[in-house]
Parts: sequence; C-alpha cells; structure tokens
Amino acid sequence: MKKTYDLVIVGSGPTGLGAAFHFMANRPKGRVLMLDRNKFSSGGLRNDCKMNFTYPVGFTSEYWTREVAEYYLNLVMLKLQPDIMQKMNVSVYTQRAARLGVELLDIRQTHLGTDGGVRLIKTLLAELERLGVEVSLDEAMVSLDADSRTVQTDKRTLTYEHLLVAPGRSGFRFLQELMRAMNVHFIDNMVDIGVRVEARRDHYPIVRDYYDPKFHFPAKVRTFCTNSGSAHVVKEKYESPQGRPFFSVNGHSYSDTTRHSGLVNFAMLKTVKLTEPLASGQEFAEMLGMQAMLLGGGQPIMQRVGDFRLAKRSKEKTFTGDLYDFEPSLKGCTAGDISLAMPSKILRAIWKALKQLDTIVPGILHPSTILYYPEIKLYANKPTFKDRHFQVRDGVYMAGDGAGTSRGITAAWASGIRAVDGMLAIHPT
Ligand SMILES: Cc1cc2nc3c(=O)[nH]c(=O)nc-3n(C[C@H](O)[C@H](O)[C@H](O)COP(=O)(O)OP(=O)(O)OC[C@H]3O[C@@H](n4cnc5c(N)ncnc54)[C@H](O)[C@@H]3O)c2cc1C
Repeated sequence: MKKTYDLVIVGSGPTGLGAAFHFMANRPKGRVLMLDRNKFSSGGLRNDCKMNFTYPVGFTSEYWTREVAEYYLNLVMLKLQPDIMQKMNVSVYTQRAARLGVELLDIRQTHLGTDGGVRLIKTLLAELERLGVEVSLDEAMVSLDADSRTVQTDKRTLTYEHLLVAPGRSGFRFLQELMRAMNVHFIDNMVDIGVRVEARRDHYPIVRDYYDPKFHFPAKVRTFCTNSGSAHVVKEKYESPQGRPFFSVNGHSYSDTTRHSGLVNFAMLKTVKLTEPLASGQEFAEMLGMQAMLLGGGQPIMQRVGDFRLAKRSKEKTFTGDLYDFEPSLKGCTAGDISLAMPSKILRAIWKALKQLDTIVPGILHPSTILYYPEIKLYANKPTFKDRHFQVRDGVYMAGDGAGTSRGITAAWASGIRAVDGMLAIHPT
C-alpha cells in the first residue's frame, strides 16, 4: 500500500535537516519522511563540521542577496546556537592582503570537528524523532512521477504533497538524471578546481588566530576549508558515467587536540566558468580527474613545493628527508608532477595566489609543503527554478549543494528552510 506524506525529503544532509525542523516548527502535526541512501545519516555534517555564519561564505550569488541570506542565516543560528570562535591578531594579515589586492574575509565561525559533527547528528536525529519525523536510512530514491506526486525508492512507493530533493554533491549525477527525466532545464557550467595544500602548522601560523581564514585572490582563486589541530587530508571517490573511478582530495580534522598532527591543510581553488561553446562543468572536471588518475597510476598526485619550484617531479624515494621533514597525512598518493596534469591557466592562477599568500603569511611556501591534486568541487547544477524557493515543478523542490543553491553547511541548511517557506507559503523576505 502506498504511504502518503506531507513532505518527503531526499537526503539527510544539512539541507534536509533545515527543511525537516522548519516544517515541523510550522506544522507540528505534519507527516514528514526523510530518506537517505546511506546507512549513516546527515551527509556533509560528518565532515569536519566547521560552520560559517557570514554572507557570502557558502552562498551562491545567483540565488542569494545579502539581505535574504542574512535573514535565513539568523534562523540557522537560532536553531544551532553556535559557539562562535574568537579571532585574534587578524588586522596585520588583512592589511598585508589588501596591499596585494587580496581580501581576507571576516567570518563568524564555529568548528565541531568530524567527531563533534557525528555527536551533533545524533542529537539532531533524536530531536527529529521526538518531533515525529520518520527517518529511513539505507533507502534511496530511484525515480519520480511528478504528475501523480509519486516517488519510487529502492524499497517502496510513496506519495507526497511536497518533495524536497537534496542529494548533495555526491548526488550530482542522480539529480541531473532526475532533471532530464522531468524536462527541467539546467546548466552546470561552473566548477572549482585546485590543489589541497598541506604544511607544518608552524609554517601557517595564522590558524592559531583564525581557524579557517578565507582569502579571496584575483582571478577567482580562494582558500577554502582550512583544517588544523588533528588535521588530515582525505580522498573522496567519484565515478564517471562509464563507471571509471577517480578521486578528489579533501580535508578534515577532529576536535580532539590531544591527537594534534602538527599539520594544517586547506584547499586553494579556482572557479572556472565555461562559456561558449557551453560545456558541462561536471564532464570537464571528470576529464581532469581521469587525467590525474592516469598520471598518478590510479591515485591523486602529490608534490613538494621544493620540487615544484625546480620544475622537477617528486619521487617516492626522495619524498621525505632533509627539508621534506614530515610524512603526508594522506597515504597512498603518488609522488609526481602536478603541472603535467593541471591545465596551465588554472595552475598559473593558483601558483600566483600561493605566492601572494606566502607574502601575507610568510612560510607557507616552505619546500616541505605538499600540494595534492586534484581537489574538485562540483556544486553548480543550476536548475531553472519556478520561484525563489527552489521549486522546479508543482510540489517538487531541489536545493543544497547538489542543486547549486549552497556550497557549505550553513547555506545548505538555509536552503532547506527557504524551500519549506515556499511549500508553506511563508514569505518573510
Ligand atoms: C570532506 C568534506 C569536508 C567538508 N567540510 C565542510 C566544512 O567544514 N564546512 C562546511 O560548511 N562544509 C563542508 N563541506 C561541505 C558540506 O558538507 C556541504 O556543503 C553540505 O553537506 C551540503 O549539504 P546537502 O544537504 O546539500 O548535501 P549532503 O550533506 O551531501 O547530503 C546529501 C545526502 O543525500 C543522500 N543522497 C544522495 N542521493 C540520494 C538518493 N538518491 N536517495 C536518498 N538519499 C540520497 C546522500 O547520501 C547524503 O547523505 C565538506 C564536504 C566534504 C566532502
């Protein structure tokens, strides 16, 4: 027998959570189901969980003005009650940056760490259960008939009044297939490509005063997702449409400072916007990921800055020792030459930004610093929405990182709230 819900949410990440709490706050008797294809819930809250509460971090300018984003950020803060971290001695860096035409953003941040994120998820899920939300893990949405408001999962058939599809970046392709099946027009012409930088914490001392310093450089290059303390570089697996695997690197840290690695890592990313002849950012990124796999023998590539400067590849047997005096936190990468794998326009912009960063925070380009490649961020599916609440068809909403309305936890949460405002005809802004 089909079961009918007022709201079905696909994806238990921050977008889905924001939507579930906001819906229940406004319709306490609502019948709400949240699905996730994973056995573990809550998507990207599991990764490091540093949250930024200042516009424009995490927001995509196409959909968010400052005013609208700040309204929703305020609701996110009211729910999450973040413990904002103190920043100190930042003005010296801000001034050095300004002299180079670089901006250091002043962001309200909190950091829970990967372990703290898991604890938060537990608390939030228990609260949702108390509110009467059904959470079904290990259940994937497969297809949709928007006319009859019916969702097919890999376990059952459901009907809904409202549907929010929020499958995150890992559901990027699923969302594209769904949009094609529903004839929802979309473009995905933007992608972030770059490197993950790993250095001794002493060579990037700004993190003692500002946990995740966000520098914006010319040529659409920026620092992103800085981790220190118990910090590690990790790899995420993706698959091409032909089923060929490739990796993107990423980073996270634990809240437990007793496991201090003495290292720091952050992404240096360039936003690439493809124009005429319009190509898919996703396919472009996949080609680059594949090229890196080819040169790295199926693994991401890593290179010491000392070798990079001398235009020489890093080799396994010379990768540690003397000046190269720390072990990479991501094991199994291939010591090689990132300049063979990375398009020159992207590499030049990123290297220029790194040199500027080394002027602002002297030390980051110490020879021992490691550059890992590739780091890829696919966030730019841009569906043609029917309204400001991310509706694509009557009763069907798409939001979060997979639908290009966010690229961070807090903006994803805000996207979920904003979608529910549309469903319930709440128009505060
Ligand atoms: C390693 C790493 C570290 C990060 N660190 C930070 C950070 O510190 N701060 C920050 O702001 N952002 C960080 N991010 C980004 C952040 O995780 C995302 O911006 C955010 O989680 C996006 O939320 P979302 O709800 O759109 O998607 P997600 O959080 O990705 O959740 C989507 C969920 O949908 C599920 N799903 C997908 N397809 C289906 C389907 N067909 N059926 C059912 N379920 C499905 C997925 O399993 C997933 O659980 C990080 C990301 C990574 C990968």
